[in-house]
Amino acid sequence: MDKVVGLCKRRGFVFQSAEIYGGFRSTYDYGPPGVNLLRNVKNAWWEAMVQRRDDVVGLDAAVLSPPAVWQASGHLSNFTDPLVDCRHCHQRWREDRIEGVCPNCGSTEFTEARAFNLMFKTHAGPIEDEGAVAYLRPETAQGMFTNFANVLQTTRKKPPFGIAQVGKSFRNEITPQNFVFRTREFEQMEMEYFVPPREADEWFRYWLDERYRWYLDMGIHESELRLRHHGADELSHYSAATADVEFLFPWGWDELEGIANRTDFDLLAHAEASGERLEYFDQPSGERYVPYVIEPAAGATRTMMAFLLSAYHEDEVGGEARTVLRLHPRLAPYQVAVLPLSKKETLAPLAREVLTSLQPHFMCDFDVTQSIGRRYRRQDEVGTPWCVTVDFDSIDDRAVTVRDRDTTDQARVPVEGLVAELRRRIDRA
Ligand code: ATP
Repeated sequence: MDKVVGLCKRRGFVFQSAEIYGGFRSTYDYGPPGVNLLRNVKNAWWEAMVQRRDDVVGLDAAVLSPPAVWQASGHLSNFTDPLVDCRHCHQRWREDRIEGVCPNCGSTEFTEARAFNLMFKTHAGPIEDEGAVAYLRPETAQGMFTNFANVLQTTRKKPPFGIAQVGKSFRNEITPQNFVFRTREFEQMEMEYFVPPREADEWFRYWLDERYRWYLDMGIHESELRLRHHGADELSHYSAATADVEFLFPWGWDELEGIANRTDFDLLAHAEASGERLEYFDQPSGERYVPYVIEPAAGATRTMMAFLLSAYHEDEVGGEARTVLRLHPRLAPYQVAVLPLSKKETLAPLAREVLTSLQPHFMCDFDVTQSIGRRYRRQDEVGTPWCVTVDFDSIDDRAVTVRDRDTTDQARVPVEGLVAELRRRIDRA
């Protein structure tokens, strides 16, 4: 964990937010490679969940929302964590995370637990009175429920169909911890899949399999991944069944994604509170029903951290130690680095030509500093799968050397065939 956090800081994946003012606890900024990695995680999710399916459509709903939404969804009354104060050192903790012992001072005496609501409350407009109260969404899901009828009407979808969204959510976590694992501002990737109620169990199982496989496809090893079903006492207020995809973090198994059968809880609640009809009418059969909802809910920032932990390796190349991020090429911050062998002017025009021929297709880095060996190490450390070296022979034979991050094998490839060759390698990964 320390090594990955160190790498993130050293190479600019993640910065402490407001660092020049001493930092703002539990908020992070994503630097140049970090923003690429995070974007790639979200794009890979979007591709699997929306682009490659004809039964799921996208949505981007507002973060600011009126109390009515959270009143109806049950979050105003139920979205709480049990807060206790240590009677000895007065630190505050989430009761269900500390097993009766204060992590700060070891005391076992606490105040009675109080239900602490995790939603951030603010005011919309210039007057800070009750009528102006607004909330930052604690999950993206409610946007899909409040827009259910809009999407149904405008897309003519019929159950089973889904609405997917990627975006920021905010929770006033009592104890944010473990770097970007639990923060107060984070990004979610959620999909609400609306199904005929009798098919809910079947679709729940289907999405468990799909989501578990996605992490494997993106390079996480089977030994680091498991599915864990929730016991009845663990279920959220809306859920009939939940299972988590868990990753083996350095502190043990912990959640990456929750897959829940939310039943018709949310649509019924919003229909009742708003007076709108939130149901599906099947014309051919004349059947009218409120769909059940299967929800795979993942965290983009938390998942990014799991990919980093899983990819981090230290090995030896030619007797020299190196740090390498074995990220899936789809996720790597840069797919290619173009490295002119020397700073000499004679190489510059061809190196630039190679770079501009690759840029429309891949995220590229360009580095002319230091020895070629050091530049390879720098690229290994941020997970760049291929380095393209332009040398003095390249001017005559119009070919470049492609060096593979994982095997360090090198191959000579004609400049004209380079895009196709790299595309082929990514597709094979
Ligand atoms: P926990 O019990 O750990 O507080 P949760 O079960 O309430 O989390 P969900 O509401 O199921 O979490 O949220 C779906 C996903 O959103 C989680 O699996 C996680 O990846 C992500 N997520 C939730 N809270 C946070 C947070 N504070 N920081 C980062 N990611 C989060």
